Amino acid sequence: TTRPPGGFFGHPKGLSTLFFTETWERFSYYGMKAILLYYMYDQAASGGLGIDQGLAKSIVAVYGAALYMSSILGGWIADRFLGSRRSILYGGILIMLAHLTLAIPGGAAFLYASMVLLVIGTGMLKPNVTNLVGGLYAEDDTRRDAGFSIFYMGINLGAFLAPLVIGTIGQSYNYHLGFSLAAAGMAAGLTQYWLRRRTLGDVGLAPTNPMTETERGQAVLRIGIGVVLLVACAAFLVVTGEFTASLVVNAVSLLAFIVPVAYFVVMFTSKKVSAVERSRLVAYIPLFIGAVLFWFVEEQQFTVWAQFADQQTDLDAFGFHIPSSWVQVISAMDVIIFAPLLALLWTKLKHRQPSTPQKFTIGLFLSGLSFLIMALVCVLQGPDGKANPLWLLLSLTVLTIGELCLSPVGLSATTKLAPAAFVAQTVGLFLAADAAGQGLIAQVAPLYNRHSAPVYFGVIGGFVLVAAAILGLLSPAIKRKMHGVS
Ligand code: GLN
Repeated sequence: TTRPPGGFFGHPKGLSTLFFTETWERFSYYGMKAILLYYMYDQAASGGLGIDQGLAKSIVAVYGAALYMSSILGGWIADRFLGSRRSILYGGILIMLAHLTLAIPGGAAFLYASMVLLVIGTGMLKPNVTNLVGGLYAEDDTRRDAGFSIFYMGINLGAFLAPLVIGTIGQSYNYHLGFSLAAAGMAAGLTQYWLRRRTLGDVGLAPTNPMTETERGQAVLRIGIGVVLLVACAAFLVVTGEFTASLVVNAVSLLAFIVPVAYFVVMFTSKKVSAVERSRLVAYIPLFIGAVLFWFVEEQQFTVWAQFADQQTDLDAFGFHIPSSWVQVISAMDVIIFAPLLALLWTKLKHRQPSTPQKFTIGLFLSGLSFLIMALVCVLQGPDGKANPLWLLLSLTVLTIGELCLSPVGLSATTKLAPAAFVAQTVGLFLAADAAGQGLIAQVAPLYNRHSAPVYFGVIGGFVLVAAAILGLLSPAIKRKMHGVS
């Protein structure tokens, strides 16, 4: 591979290209997510679709689950077929088309069509842009981890600006105008990616593990059969009148659990996996489950927390009106503030810093705590009162410090603990934990409303704290099973 010389904060120039591609992609994604729930449950008179609030939350959650599950497919397409660079390009185009579809006020049909486009597009873009970041550095380059931290800032720069721009315009003028800004953002990202493609040298141009003629024939046949079966099933259900939104919700939720289980079974039974690798995989399982529970809490920002901001928060507390979609700003802002501080802390602590399983434990613990803070405020204000927005600032800041303990180490732990034959799919595997968390949200979030709120937050928060305690107790054993991987 040729990597052009560079300069972007002492990193390869290509990092800035990928940084801004991901900034704009996340801007479009989180901008859309900032208003999606409101667009779905608001009544037609306020420009929404009038979908039941419980069902709307489930749909938002399985949408997110499908979107991250498709990363496995997107990684595979790049690996075996298109290469990362072209996958990102085509993925970006599909993402732009998805948001354009939502920009048209066409009702539920347009919403569902856009979801399909975004699931495929994001699956093709997100894991591959992440892989390309790794590809910019040689194996032993010490700047690698820092490169990923800078990239994580790019993600959150997009996530920070999105609610402020798309949320504000979408809520104060028109949802569809908001969605069209998401499309414009992705267009800007794509243009930048295309114009500055030379900064990437030839990294990611060719598929890493291209298919042979025969494999290609087999793949086309299998995918063809799969698609035909899927369409036949759907057609059958439509004809018999069983094809409902809640059926799709349950099917995707289930799939979000089956996919990681199947993944682990394949890795465990593969002949390409050595005994030491198998032990590392055993160590990875409790970490993976911890990650599922963490994302289960974290991803509720777009459903339960969003509903709380909309219905149970005093948005005029500071003398001016805060759009409820701004609840999404908090976590991104926290990442930008705390990521460098935490990185500094780990560097200062050197070998005294917590181990990977301990960092996971801290992350999970803080996510449980954030829900208990929400339970407390719900008790204090009662079902009809409105909470000061500072409570949201507090609980989401606690959550996000947890995210910074778990998410960056999680990705690198996945790289180090996954068997060599599977590392190309690391990003997809790690995002599968998030998908499973969202599958769980789809099942439980309908239980949330202003009356159930204290019990909802309290029970889930307590449950997550217990899980964190178990993970903490298991940490030394997990560390032993990691066989020298730190
Ligand atoms: N919030 C981050 C992003 O959007 C991380 C998501 C994840 O790793 N599950 O990329």
